[in-house]
Order: sequence, then C-alpha cells, then structure tokens
Amino acid sequence: MQTVRVRIAPSPTGSDLHIGNVYTALINFVFAKKNRGKFIVRIEDTDRTRLVKGAEGKILSSLKWFNIYYDEGPDIGGPLGPYRQSERLSLYKKYAHKLVGKGNAYYCFCNSSRLNQMRKRQMEKGQPTLYDGFCRHSDPRISAKRIIKEKFVIRLKVPRQGTTVFNDLIRGPISFANKLIDDQVLLKSDGYPTYHLGVVVDDHLMEISHVIRAEEWISSTPKHVLIYKFLGWQLPVFAHGPILRNPDKSKLSKRKNPVWASWYKEQGFLPEAILNYLALMGWSHPEGKDIFSRQELIDKFRLEDLKAVGPAFDLVKLEWLNGEYIRQTQNSKLKTQIYEFLDKKYPQELISKTIPLIKERIKKLSDYLPLCRFFFEEPENYEWDIISYRSLLSKIVLQLENLNQWKSAIIGQTMKVLAEKLKIKNSEFFMVLRVAVTGQKVTPPLNESMEILGKEKILSRIKKLINEKNPSHRHQ
Ligand code: GLU
Repeated sequence: MQTVRVRIAPSPTGSDLHIGNVYTALINFVFAKKNRGKFIVRIEDTDRTRLVKGAEGKILSSLKWFNIYYDEGPDIGGPLGPYRQSERLSLYKKYAHKLVGKGNAYYCFCNSSRLNQMRKRQMEKGQPTLYDGFCRHSDPRISAKRIIKEKFVIRLKVPRQGTTVFNDLIRGPISFANKLIDDQVLLKSDGYPTYHLGVVVDDHLMEISHVIRAEEWISSTPKHVLIYKFLGWQLPVFAHGPILRNPDKSKLSKRKNPVWASWYKEQGFLPEAILNYLALMGWSHPEGKDIFSRQELIDKFRLEDLKAVGPAFDLVKLEWLNGEYIRQTQNSKLKTQIYEFLDKKYPQELISKTIPLIKERIKKLSDYLPLCRFFFEEPENYEWDIISYRSLLSKIVLQLENLNQWKSAIIGQTMKVLAEKLKIKNSEFFMVLRVAVTGQKVTPPLNESMEILGKEKILSRIKKLINEKNPSHRHQ
C-alpha cells in the first residue's frame, strides 16, 4: 500500500493561522496518524502582494500550540524540501516551460489594460470573465523569441471541448465543462507561480497521497487535474471537507466570528477543547459522543465519513465544551495553565488554593481573573455601596477577631449566628460581607474564599473600609 503523505499549505497572508486552517490541519494530522503516514506543512508564499510579515512564524507557532506536530516543514526541513514555495521557484519555472513545450500551455503577452478592457466587455455582455485566448494561437516559435525581451505570463491551454472529471472521496465524481475553465495563469510575469501551478508541482514532488482541504478549493481542482494529466503525473486522492460556516451559513468570516488562532488563545480556550470542537464540524463520533480525546478521534476517524456540510460554528457551544475540558483537567495542570495564561504574574501557590473553588464556574481561562482578582489584590472599587453598613461591619470584625480557628465552616457558622442575632436577612448580610472583602458581588464561595485569604487580610480589609473617610467614592 502507498504511504500516506498529507499536507496543509497555508499562505502567510493573514495575522495568524486561520481557524479554518486549524480544522484542515487537524483532519490531515489525524488521517496521517491513523495511517502511520506523514503530515507535512508547506508555506505557500507566492502571492507577494498579500504577504504579511511575521505570518509564517505565527502559523507555525500556532500549530505547535495546538500540538499538531508535523513531520516535515519549513523550519524543520525534511527529505523533499524546501517547504517554502518562494525557495522552489526554479522548479515551477521548469514545469511551466515544460508544459509550453508539450503544447499544454502558452506564453501570453497581454498587458493589464487589454485584460481590463476584455473583462469590462465580458461583464457588460453578462459573460463569464475568462481569458479570451488572444495569445493562445500565436505561433510558438515567434512567442519563444518574444519572451527574451518582453514581459510574459504562461497560461494553461485548457481544452475547449469535453469535461474534466475527478473523484472526490467525500463527494463522489465532480465534473466541470472545459469551456468554463479559464486558461489559468500558471507562471506570473514576476517569475512566481500562481497557486495552481505551485500546488500541483509541490504535491507531486512531495509525494502527497491525499489532498484533504476545504470545499472552497473544489473549483480550482479541475485546473489541477489538467496539469497532472498534461505532465503525466498520477493524481492524488482528493477529499474536500466542509468549510466552517457562521450560523447564517455564510463562510466563517472576520466580521461575524473571530477567525485567528491567537484570538482563541487569548480568550483562554484550551487547544484540546478547540480541536475536539472542530472535529465535530464534519464528523460525528460513532457513539454520538461530544467529548473525546485526540487518541479516540484518531482511532475512530475515517476520512470517508467526513460530511460535505457540517453544523454552524457556534462559539457558545465551543465555550461549553471548553468548560467541560477545564472540569476534566487535573487541578495541578489547571493551576499551571492559569498561571501561564496570566503571564506568571500571580503566585502559583495561591492560584492552586483557589482552583477547587472556581473549577466548576469558569468556561475559559480568561474567566478566572475577573472572578478571583481579590485573592491577589485588595479591592479598589466596590460594586455596592456599603457605607451605610459600617456599624454592621464593626460587629463582624468583633466576631471574626475572636475566632481561634480560621476555617470556612466556623467562619460561616459564626457569621450566620450573628446575622440571626441582628435579625438581618442572610442574603443581605452576606452580600455586605462579600463586597467588603472582595469588592465584588459575584465571587467564588465566600467562606472558603475568606479561609484562603486568611484572618489577617480579611480583618485589615474590613477595618480599612470602616475607617475610610468616604468609602462611597469607590463605589462603582
Ligand atoms: N495555499 C492554499 C491555502 O491558503 C492551499 C490550498 C490547498 O490546500 O490546496 O489554503
């Protein structure tokens, strides 16, 4: 059996790895692991006008953050490199000219003003904007001389008749009428290939066995199939998976949903939770499970089961799943994740103590600090005006000062007894205490939080409030 070699081929034209590319990477990675194959990363940086500085580094480090490790890639090399298209220009040139030599491609000298006019006329007539073939029938010997002095591109000579058919593992046979396929530019006048030439040459030379990518590339595939055929190369297996969609079915876009991997990281989503969620975008666990490990995904995944259309990408569901992952995480690991998420600014020991209190309550790592800031910093503002409760606060202090044992159950019991004695409703009493100690109306369980903060800190916080001349100015 042929060795499985799959790849992703991101273009460094955005701020980071697109979440859609994370999805494609996951499927390719899982398929490679399942088949003991190789997973390759190739950087397609041939569109020089859209290149974003630093994007390649971000793409690779995001893959690493997801633990989607690759066997061959631009930074680690491999036997069939280089893995960055801008370092492979001579190869594309060679094959583009080879296609011309075989009569399957031709030199084109049309300048942009002619092409613009052509398109304008086609649009006015409501025709598809395809190249009109002006240079297609030029005498090849004359063209071969012109290229020495003139600017040119190389175009694919798509047969005018017939159809181009390929089989898609997920969608079955797909056919395109040749007359609707453009005489695609393969090599640009700057010597760089277009995506279409680059992708075919590289997938062939890198011995890619399965091209697994999103459905948005289906319409490009007949052009690729023609190039494979003209060069006498064996086709890879094509499998076009679903594209990620907004709830209104439109393609996941920057305007409606966050698309960059870094956003998800900054929000405190866990990489494994994101991948679990993405896996469900085009595949269902045979037992209908929503939550499964990566290994389980590898074990159960079958490329043929990938659906052509998946559910909408739903951030609320992702958040829920992320919360479930947080709950499954061991406390010590969660502590480290929070510590690192907060740039190591807060003491690990204290974070550790708070974990049991918040594990059930947070959905993302970014939910932690708003809930727990008071453990690390004295409140600066108070979410409730507690100025009118000064005398109550003094009574609370007296009771707490007398406690010999600083344990949550004892604190809670003592406070309850006091509330009863003073005939204050529990809800009101504990809200006063909560806001006085934390500044916040919503916190983890109060008695446990007070135990963690310690007697000294609690008393000093409340006393400070009692002695403050005008605490209401800090009420927000
Ligand atoms: N460079 C394309 C991209 O940006 C690769 C598409 C493909 O997988 O063929 O996604």
